[in-house]
Amino acid sequence: EQIMRESMHKYKPIAWEDIAGLEYAKSTFMETIIHPLQRPDLFKGVRRPPRGVLLFGPPGTGKTLIAKCIASQSRATFFSINPSSLTSKWVGEGEKLVKTLFAVAAVHQPAIIFMDEVDSLLSQRSDNEHESSRRLKNEFFIQLDGAATNEDDHIVIIGATNRPQELDEAVRRRFVRRIYVSLPEAPARQQIIEKLIQQVHHNLDEAQVQGLAELTEGYSGADMDSLCRYAAMQPLRALSSSEIDSIDAQQLPAVTMSDFMCALQHV
Ligand code: ATP
Repeated sequence: EQIMRESMHKYKPIAWEDIAGLEYAKSTFMETIIHPLQRPDLFKGVRRPPRGVLLFGPPGTGKTLIAKCIASQSRATFFSINPSSLTSKWVGEGEKLVKTLFAVAAVHQPAIIFMDEVDSLLSQRSDNEHESSRRLKNEFFIQLDGAATNEDDHIVIIGATNRPQELDEAVRRRFVRRIYVSLPEAPARQQIIEKLIQQVHHNLDEAQVQGLAELTEGYSGADMDSLCRYAAMQPLRALSSSEIDSIDAQQLPAVTMSDFMCALQHV
């Protein structure tokens, strides 16, 4: 009950077009999840998709966004699991929760289990590893292997991590398909800016947006999001409290390139 309550999130629907760049990740997910769910008869035997898919890469690059998109676009039941909801200080409790999670997923097939920060649950074994986390991990392996060998089982596990090097070798092996989610290139950064500034009155032309995309090398998608939010607030920051109280929304000054230059100093 606890797992069901915490995990079956309802997201605002996300479309593939909402994710800038990451073409390889998108096509891999079409091939491993979306199409096999549409046509299970075509994806059998040697064409059977892997059960475990790992998304790894720097923070804020869209790993969770991809998972939310898959949740929106697939007809599967989607379980989003926070590792902390599976860990327990009580020996045996965590493994029971893992068993229950897979049992519930099996009833609601086809199902996708998304585990963000999977490294915190399945990190490398160390000598002083706590008994309960060792047992939880073993149970996870049993369930993952069971799902992998049963042809009638339609459960996919998507793990996401910023620290793949901390994953146990045995865990890495079970995530057969591993997808690097990279920082966005300039065209993807431009796409993120264009999408966000559409929501406000602005006077930037295409060349200026392109210029901003070039100035933001090394920014993640999340950084681009913060940059646009900061710039979009600038016209409001220039107003006094009484002006904010009385101004007509239509009369708000446009967001300008200099608002973005100011945002670049802060984000
Ligand atoms: P973390 O590893 O820190 O959990 P993450 O890789 O899961 O990060 P997300 O949570 O998916 O990153 O991204 C954070 C926000 O950044 C998204 O909600 C979105 O607004 C923006 N974002 C990141 N990547 C992209 C992208 N490729 N296209 C559009 N927006 C993006």
